[in-house]
Amino acid sequence: MYEKQRSFRFRSILCSPGWLGPLALFVAACAYPADTVTSTVLIGNSRIDVSTEEGQLHAPKEDVMKWVQWSAEAVAGYYGRFPVPHTSLRIIPTSGDGVRGGRTWGDHGSHISIHVGADTTWSDFADDWMLPHEMIHLAFPDVDDRHHWIEEGISVYVEPFARVRAHHMDVNQMWFEVVRDMPKGLPGPGDEGLDHTHTWGRTYWGGALFCLLADIEIHEKTNNQKGLQDALRGILDAGGNIQQEWDLQKALEVGDRATGVAVLVPLYEEMKDQPHPVDLPATWAKLGIERDGDKVRFLDSASEAKIREAITWGATSSPPDALKKSATLENLTIFAGRTTR
Ligand SMILES: [Zn+2]
Repeated sequence: MYEKQRSFRFRSILCSPGWLGPLALFVAACAYPADTVTSTVLIGNSRIDVSTEEGQLHAPKEDVMKWVQWSAEAVAGYYGRFPVPHTSLRIIPTSGDGVRGGRTWGDHGSHISIHVGADTTWSDFADDWMLPHEMIHLAFPDVDDRHHWIEEGISVYVEPFARVRAHHMDVNQMWFEVVRDMPKGLPGPGDEGLDHTHTWGRTYWGGALFCLLADIEIHEKTNNQKGLQDALRGILDAGGNIQQEWDLQKALEVGDRATGVAVLVPLYEEMKDQPHPVDLPATWAKLGIERDGDKVRFLDSASEAKIREAITWGATSSPPDALKKSATLENLTIFAGRTTR
């Protein structure tokens, strides 16, 4: 359900965290020609060159560019900046509606391709998780194929929090989906750990489960002052973006140094070669999250309710808060609008 090619020219991450897996495989056939730049989005000191392949999109260009801006702002808000100085985004119009399979490359300055249905509306763009998911891939180094679960896991786990903090997603809906979907990452019969069990569930949601457990434990060990966000920012600040090839061990050590607590490396030791079952109902109970039909209820009397809040909105040591960040980034975003066709 995923493919990662490691040749210099086409090293890439192909994503299919949901039901779009089989469809996303079609994207794998697409190479990346140098299209004409049609628009540029600036996010802080980073530049995103957006080009659209031949084809029809009924949505106004303003909606398409706002979608790119929103996605980039959500990711930049989580990481404190957009992950790379420059990336190219290639939009491939297709039939139907909605945002489809995406793919991210680390070579040649990094680039992303993503399919967008001709009938996609602003409402579809506003609900989209795929472009933020792809952009989050830019924020972690390229690691060996057997660790692909960490690359997908970070994107699956971080994306909804980034969108909630940017006020692009409802917090209740986010936790409902996390509680609903996280069991897909649990080990099944015959599981041999994350480095050896390359199923769809263990790759995408097993990786997200690793992130959830790490996030909770970092908050527990730092008196709720730091979280996975601080570890991931530390890795990015040390130069660990998708354009770099790193050993996973090195990345996790850098992350642990950033938080000051040993969590990522020991948890990896626990999960890489063995199933490491997790009692998810007990995890939701201590965080104070109770499923109620198609919603969740938050219980502030739970033992780790404050950790749930910090995981959701960011630890107290991670300035600036979501609102201030969003406003700052919005002011820095410029559309150059260099239409050359
Ligand atoms: Zn992905």
